[in-house]
Amino acid sequence: MSDFEGLKALVTGGASGIGRATAELLAERGAQVAVLDLDPSSVDKPLLAHRADVTDDASVRQAVTAAVAGLGGGLDVLVNNAGIGARGTVEDNPDDEWHRVYDVNVLGMVRTTRACLPHLRASRHAAIVNTCSVAATAGLPQRALYSATKGAVHSLTLAMAADHVREGIRVNCVNPGTVDTPWVGRLLDAAPDPAAERAALEARQPTGRLVSPAEVAGAIAYLASPLSGATTGTALAVDGGMQGLRLRPV
Ligand code: NAD
Repeated sequence: MSDFEGLKALVTGGASGIGRATAELLAERGAQVAVLDLDPSSVDKPLLAHRADVTDDASVRQAVTAAVAGLGGGLDVLVNNAGIGARGTVEDNPDDEWHRVYDVNVLGMVRTTRACLPHLRASRHAAIVNTCSVAATAGLPQRALYSATKGAVHSLTLAMAADHVREGIRVNCVNPGTVDTPWVGRLLDAAPDPAAERAALEARQPTGRLVSPAEVAGAIAYLASPLSGATTGTALAVDGGMQGLRLRPV
């Protein structure tokens, strides 16, 4: 039997990158999967696609209701993955930019979790996995705002794990390093010499290569599956050794 046979999952930001790879892996392993995304137009069957903006509470509630109905009722797994990046020091981003990125990266997870909790409580294998980042704890240069949002995601993961452990809902997060997603592709394309920039980025990784979306999806799937039934309140690094090996990150 596959790990997710009979389980129902919802993945935010599931139309691209890490979320897409996760939705596809969960479906391959037997789950019924709904994707919530700002632009779900590229999402194909068997994934169920729902448009939602995680910064809009009504949009999230409507999409979660529709997704759970589309899954035939019930929900076992929530992957809070939708997120956006931000560069710069504290001097570079004005207050409204801090509010905008926090709204997606932190409150987006709060809104989606709030909408999903009543359904998760009814599950016998409830798990939430939040996509955090090495930025939560690594002290990366030029990432003050982004790092602060991911630090908040880390704390939120621990607090949610404590709040819901006796309800049988596990909550964990993954901390990816630099992952080869469309997001990173866009950053590289903006460089004067994208190929040279990619080579430099790869050279800075302990493994000499970027993490693949499938590798992050594998970690998320483990934390979402009954195989990790005794694991809650943890952060799993998926960073090619960036933090554990104490090497200088990007
Ligand atoms: P991506 O840009 O490829 O995909 C992100 C998806 O989220 C997109 O489909 C986008 O439409 C969706 N999204 C963005 N804002 C949204 C909103 N307001 N409402 C609903 N959906 C929204 O990015 P990715 O690289 O796959 O990143 C996914 C997650 O992984 C993010 O939380 C990011 O912080 C985290 N992460 C990425 C990396 C990396 O190197 N790529 C590293 C660490 C952590």
